[in-house]
Amino acid sequence: MGDPINIVLIGPPGSGKGTQAARICDRYHLPWISTGEILRAAVKAETPLGRKVHDTLSSGGLVDDALMIDLVRSRLAEPDAITGFVLDGFPRTINQALALDALLAEHPLLALLLDVPGPELERRLGARRICSTCKALYATGTRYGSEEELCSKCGGTLIRRDDDNIDVIRNRLQTYRNTADPLIAHYSARGVLTAIDGTASSEKVTKALLKAIDAGVRTKK
Ligand code: ADP
Repeated sequence: MGDPINIVLIGPPGSGKGTQAARICDRYHLPWISTGEILRAAVKAETPLGRKVHDTLSSGGLVDDALMIDLVRSRLAEPDAITGFVLDGFPRTINQALALDALLAEHPLLALLLDVPGPELERRLGARRICSTCKALYATGTRYGSEEELCSKCGGTLIRRDDDNIDVIRNRLQTYRNTADPLIAHYSARGVLTAIDGTASSEKVTKALLKAIDAGVRTKK
């Protein structure tokens, strides 16, 4: 068995991380680990974790590091993460990045950054819908509309994520700006960062990401 393919996807909300993560996972047979999805599922199921993080998620702020690090530590210990993973939404702080470095010890890590400017992100997030059943992502033509549409994959109802409204969107973008720079500097200093232009078509972005991963995997051999 080769080295595990451990990937951290960094990018602002609306940069296409979820869509691209799914494609990378398909291509390399890796589990997609979205900390946002894990937290939202916990809120929906009203578990003790969900009750704890509910208010933070509704406001667009960050859940505390200790809780997030515990959550990711136990998720990465599951058998499907042995051959690698795509982490989406973690790390978001330097403490989380250092904890991940310690967890991975000598194992390789690739950090991929999806670059998209602010105004384009607001536009995309306002138009975003998610299937309430299978979680597929959609871009509608309308901003902040409320028309009901159905998922073309499973027939589920398309909904807006609770935090995809303009005030929370702006808060999430601000939170990202405050936290991303140190993370980018950290991975850049480690020599494991590749920045990709996230404004290109989603197919082009996928191509660039797969190329960066293949190059990264080859360098490790
Ligand atoms: P986004 O679309 O804003 O990138 P995510 O789906 O990654 O959102 O996360 C949704 C929310 O979950 C965040 O706004 C934050 O409150 C919380 N969250 C997710 N991952 C983390 C993390 N690594 N550290 C702190 N909070 C997190």
